[in-house]
Amino acid sequence: MHRRRPLIGIPTASRDAGSSIGPTPSRVVYDFYVDPVISAGGVPILLVPVCDQAVDAVLDAIDGLFLIGGEDVDPPIYGGERDSRSKTPDRHRDDFEIELTRRALEVSVPVFAVCRGHQLLNVALGGSLITHVETDIEGAGDHDDLETFAGQRTSHSVSVVAGSDLFGIVGDLGVVNSLHHQAIDRLGKGLVVSARHPRSGVIEAVERPGGGFCIGVQWHPEMIADAGTAHFALFEAFVAAAETYSADIGRSPAGSLR
Ligand code: MN
Repeated sequence: MHRRRPLIGIPTASRDAGSSIGPTPSRVVYDFYVDPVISAGGVPILLVPVCDQAVDAVLDAIDGLFLIGGEDVDPPIYGGERDSRSKTPDRHRDDFEIELTRRALEVSVPVFAVCRGHQLLNVALGGSLITHVETDIEGAGDHDDLETFAGQRTSHSVSVVAGSDLFGIVGDLGVVNSLHHQAIDRLGKGLVVSARHPRSGVIEAVERPGGGFCIGVQWHPEMIADAGTAHFALFEAFVAAAETYSADIGRSPAGSLR
């Protein structure tokens, strides 16, 4: 049987790449997001923000949507206030990803979201965020520890909800890496909590029951996704869901897996 390698859309970030002609605004995705997608059998398709009228054309071209980490979701989008600790907003990226996510969920394109992506998924569904988790939530100071994160040591424990889709993939995780200073506050429509930080209750994962694969995690599985780990299993499950979606919508078997 020939199966098509699923095409995984990954929205890009804006960076000044610099060049011999001077400042050069560019779109980038770090390799550590792309690598586990490829290892799990997906083909990354890097996405550039387009106007709302073109979002459906983007969706036509992908079998799964991977919402990656990055700068803060701009607080005014969810009714919050930007302040000096908020990272520089990129409204072009926010608006594109929100529209893309809403329409992806409408047509059951599988969605996997990490860190900022997990927060953006929540905002796309009408939820809100805590703007500074490390100071706004008591007992949550261990979520944003760059030193620990850069050393790839686990940062805090999580409690995965038994019976959730997430639990079915990763089981009882124990500990995760953590580098975030926003977090979900009010849940978006249709989302349920699938993991929490035990001490503070901060939401660490969400999913959307009944609508195809849709999982968001607050940690960074891509950084610790060695083959055989629970974190890599998330990528395998996501890519498998995208492959099923590809077959369900009748994509041609070009680029088929054997
Ligand atoms: Mn955390």
